[in-house]
Amino acid sequence: SIPLGFFGGIGGASKAGILVKGSNYLEALSHAQTVVMDKTGTLTEGKFHVTRQKAVEITPEEQLELAALAESASNHPIAQSLKEAYGKAIDTERVEDVQEIAGHGVSARVDGKQVLAGNAAYLENAGLQPETPTEIGTAVHLAVNGVYTGYILIADTIKPDAAQAVQAFRQAGVSTVAMLTGDSESAAEAVGDTLQLDEVHAKCLPADKVQFMQAYRAKLAKGRTLVFVGDGMNDAPVLAQSDVGVAMGGLGSDAAIAAADLVILDDKPSKLGLAMHIAKKTMGIARENIVFALGVKAIVLVLGAVGLAHIGAAVFADVGVSVIAILNSTRAMRTKFK
Ligand code: ADP
Ligand code: MG
Repeated sequence: SIPLGFFGGIGGASKAGILVKGSNYLEALSHAQTVVMDKTGTLTEGKFHVTRQKAVEITPEEQLELAALAESASNHPIAQSLKEAYGKAIDTERVEDVQEIAGHGVSARVDGKQVLAGNAAYLENAGLQPETPTEIGTAVHLAVNGVYTGYILIADTIKPDAAQAVQAFRQAGVSTVAMLTGDSESAAEAVGDTLQLDEVHAKCLPADKVQFMQAYRAKLAKGRTLVFVGDGMNDAPVLAQSDVGVAMGGLGSDAAIAAADLVILDDKPSKLGLAMHIAKKTMGIARENIVFALGVKAIVLVLGAVGLAHIGAAVFADVGVSVIAILNSTRAMRTKFK
């Protein structure tokens, strides 16, 4: 009766586009205390559009072209968006020595010029002094041949169902919903305030995210679990730190989808809320089945011992109870997605 309930739960989840890689993850999900989420691609669309450009000593067209070329080999959402904003075909012959530094940015040689494109910390590490834009957004700063050449400000939109997801987590008994991001404080706060998250940590490198996860683990109550949700860009190590690692299947990297315990095929964070609901229902059904099967058997055993049960009751206690447990288990498959 236990495996049947879980099969039902996993089946119901897969019908809703949630791939659960084992019944143990469904059980762990039903005890979630803390949900930690990545920002870009998880709570936000991961599709940035250019909102403003500040070009110093070069034209804005040149600036965007250099950025797009330097990012040509990257599949980070920021890189994809810059290539889209550039809009022209990229001649990879013009780009050499590409290097991508996780949580920082890229460096490349474009038309023989050394180009750095990335966040403020990345350029500061290279000894430059990037400006801090006053508007909300993510700034991709540029340096050409060691000279700071301004920034391209890009903005992302929050996914339409992100608020609904956070609400569903709280309904399922989650006490802390946190966000870890490599992005700037201003971009992180904007999302944190809109979604009313409990904790927001900005400017995290992949290693910082692992440390935050360890701290959250230390704060867990007995029997409660830690869930991480990411799009997989630079967060495969963090997925490994969680009890239930969730990856976005559409945007997510192959490594994250392989490392994850749960994959949301259509990238909707609210599906994790649904998965929690299915997990709780499945656990309830498994419990009902155990109590029902053992209860009926105990009663028939006692009645048999005192001579009140005949063979029909014994058949019911065995086969009849199995059939009812199977029927009960199929309820786990039919969980409505609101
Ligand atoms: P998040 O935690 O929001 O998913 P990442 O860890 O992937 O973000 O990246 C953190 C930050 O590092 C980004 O907000 C960006 O400023 C910078 N960054 C990372 N990769 C790139 C890139 N390819 N081009 C420009 N900036 C990048
Ligand atoms: Mg990310």
